Amino acid sequence: MPALVYEAPRVMTMRDLPVPIPQPDEVLIEVEYSGICGSELSGFLGQSSIRQPPLVFGHEISGRIVALGSDIDSSWGISIGDEVTANPLVSCGRCDLCAQGRQQLCPRRLLLGASLPGGNARYVAVPASAVLPVPAGMTLAVAAMVEPVAFALRAVEVSSAAPDSAVLVVGAGAIGLFILQVLAASGVRTRYVVERNPDRLAMAVALGCIPLDPGDRGLRAVVSEATGGQGVDVAIDAVGTTATRRECLLSLAPGGTMVLVGLHSDETELPLNTAVRQELVIRGAFAYSPVHFRRGLAWLADGTVGLQQGVVVARLDEGQRWYEQLVSGHPASKVLLRPAPSGG
Ligand SMILES: [Zn+2]
Ligand SMILES: [Zn+2]
Repeated sequence: MPALVYEAPRVMTMRDLPVPIPQPDEVLIEVEYSGICGSELSGFLGQSSIRQPPLVFGHEISGRIVALGSDIDSSWGISIGDEVTANPLVSCGRCDLCAQGRQQLCPRRLLLGASLPGGNARYVAVPASAVLPVPAGMTLAVAAMVEPVAFALRAVEVSSAAPDSAVLVVGAGAIGLFILQVLAASGVRTRYVVERNPDRLAMAVALGCIPLDPGDRGLRAVVSEATGGQGVDVAIDAVGTTATRRECLLSLAPGGTMVLVGLHSDETELPLNTAVRQELVIRGAFAYSPVHFRRGLAWLADGTVGLQQGVVVARLDEGQRWYEQLVSGHPASKVLLRPAPSGG
């Protein structure tokens, strides 16, 4: 089958790989769309410890079931031909964290497109338990976006943002935009956004967010002015650089919460005495549980969230070019790769 294989930093090539044979508890999906995730860009650059070549990326997938493992009988309610998406985070289901519904922290968790072959290929095998049918009326292109929505739901949950919280989101890529939509749907009235790319910023403003431009004065000063000297109650960093983490931390009101979502830099120097004196909360948010995944599908289906602009559909064999373009700051809100023989 055709597959886009990450061979080395900045090198992805089309290769002919064997079609995966589904294990007894798996199904085989013919991939219709495989979204490029921001978290994969550092992998593409060779900066992600969990993505080692050779590897087929892709954890935001939709498609049709073409084969069932031997254990998957009619009681599963899954049939060949069904349109599906899949939760790419495979957990053990046996540990304490899985039992608590915190599958994203399972020590034996595996991720499609990182520790397992992903969706940048004609076919991908996934556990039948990970599969969700696409609701009537939802296109497979939209169904490929459940994963970032699920992540956004978890990030907002971690933030503990309340309707009267002032919330700042730094970075308006797909995750940032979905976080802003989830905040709005959760009743959070004051939503600030920082984004350098004018097209992405326009998308955030169209969602009713207040744009902030750090300009020469720096974000802390601009946030202070916007909030009457208070600072924000919650700052969500959907970029993950040293600069954005610092700016988020320094923009918080006393007792405020910073949520780390972006994974750009591993090590960051921060003014932590400020965190001590201001009793700031610093929290990471990673991935999602199956609860978030199901809610993400429902919220996309009823239109509570969704990307209205900037979605690019491209052929899988154009993938290398699109990873490059996204690394160089292309404003697409989401790039969906199509392995189908008919192409884009
Ligand atoms: Zn993703
Ligand atoms: Zn587990």
